[in-house]
Amino acid sequence: MALSLIRGKYVICKIRSRTVADVIEDGAVVQRDGTILAVGPYAALAQQYQPDETFGSAEHVVMPGLVNSHHHVGLTPFQLGSPDYPLELWFASRMAARSVDPYLDTLYAAFEMLESGITTVQHLHGVRIAPVSRVLEATEQILKAYDDIGMRVSYSYALRDQNRLVYEADEAFVQRLPARLAPDLAAYLRGQAIPLADHLALFTDLWERWHARERTRIQLAPANLHWCSDEALHALRDYAQTYRVGLHMHVLETPYQQEYAQRRTGTTAVQHLANLGLLGPQLTIGHGVWLTEADIELVASTGTMVCHNASSNLRLRSGVAPLNPLLACGVRVALGLDEAGINDDRDMLQEMRLVLRLHREPGMDDRVPTSAQVLQMATEYGAQTTGFADLIGILEPGKAADLVLMPWHHLAYPYLDPAVSVIDAVVHRGKVSGVETVLVAGVPVLQDGQIVRVAKAAVLEELATTLRQPLSPEEAHRQQLARDVFPHVQRFYDSWLHEQARAPFYRTSSRHYPGTS
Ligand SMILES: [Zn+2]
Repeated sequence: MALSLIRGKYVICKIRSRTVADVIEDGAVVQRDGTILAVGPYAALAQQYQPDETFGSAEHVVMPGLVNSHHHVGLTPFQLGSPDYPLELWFASRMAARSVDPYLDTLYAAFEMLESGITTVQHLHGVRIAPVSRVLEATEQILKAYDDIGMRVSYSYALRDQNRLVYEADEAFVQRLPARLAPDLAAYLRGQAIPLADHLALFTDLWERWHARERTRIQLAPANLHWCSDEALHALRDYAQTYRVGLHMHVLETPYQQEYAQRRTGTTAVQHLANLGLLGPQLTIGHGVWLTEADIELVASTGTMVCHNASSNLRLRSGVAPLNPLLACGVRVALGLDEAGINDDRDMLQEMRLVLRLHREPGMDDRVPTSAQVLQMATEYGAQTTGFADLIGILEPGKAADLVLMPWHHLAYPYLDPAVSVIDAVVHRGKVSGVETVLVAGVPVLQDGQIVRVAKAAVLEELATTLRQPLSPEEAHRQQLARDVFPHVQRFYDSWLHEQARAPFYRTSSRHYPGTS
């Protein structure tokens, strides 16, 4: 039995409100076999327990592990040749990406995540391959990578059963292409088609074999409204109920998606999901940049969660999500790095700081996010979107021992005004270089800033070696097809948007939302 004690000058246990947090000064956490037994003053716990191992000191900050609630891949799209196009064109550019080994790719991002204090990831797997046996093969490699490195993963395979390249049926779009391109693109899109029954069987299979493991959960992911038929959405809703798992769905990422929802349903995407019975605490809306005021009220009243992907929204010109109104309505908002943050990596501390800054509207009222709110989004609320909702995100007895340790001097040396709270210090000044130790389920997975359980340098070298190989004929063919099809995708969206849809980049300033005064 492994009993350890984790000591801190400050132990951040839980955020209580916009401005109040439970922080124990000269505190400690005691854990046995991955579960927290006690949290309290160091002096008392050191007397009560005889730990096998001690982490931290009277000069450390101890806090809950961070949760990246929206993640897809390792090597970033930018690294693989997709610049930051507007989202709909970026989708088309992603066709050209090289095939990357899923095990090495997963470890690549996991290194960056653990190094920035992320202990749990919501992995939304979007690989576009068929048949389902190939997806399963890749999934096993992904889950094995997280298992080997010691990270917690809440995994789902994103379901797409229509509109694979643009916001209309594949057959209709193919017909727009010149005869020399149409058959190739039709074959490419057909090659991604997975019958709904196979999707559902994949979920059941993974759920049965992986869901009960300590650090793995399996959830569901309708990829986005345009990608899912109502039939598929019905099926996923029912599966979520039957298996009591969460769903994570990209919704209203861009104004084009807002327009698509209107054309398809005659109402908003959120109202349509409400009509299908999908809204509720089991659903997390990824992005939600183009939620209307009525949508926000519907999201709030149903307990639906939102995952805010601020960097991604900036990079792909999606807009700025209405975070302040969402928080004012009491919506639980998580944070996601999506493909990558603004430094093209998975730096959660920087993402938190971006979120803290991005929504600072002019004025003197209390409506902009506080450090405590941002930390809660990156921990407790993120946790609630994953399959570990009851287990992680706060430090108290019975919860999992997922912890991050940072030396206080990293935040406060050579000087920090004593009136600055530890929460403010972490959110304003915490950097990857200060993440010293990370424990997942009580096990050190990062120590002195170094990955413990996997040989990082060897993995990176192996990844580099696989990509030094020349393009395979399949990759070369796909890259040419991507180049040829790109202008047709561009043309498809011409005149989709009315001018006013572009205007409200910031739409949060003058509105009055329930819960604000
Ligand atoms: Zn995404």
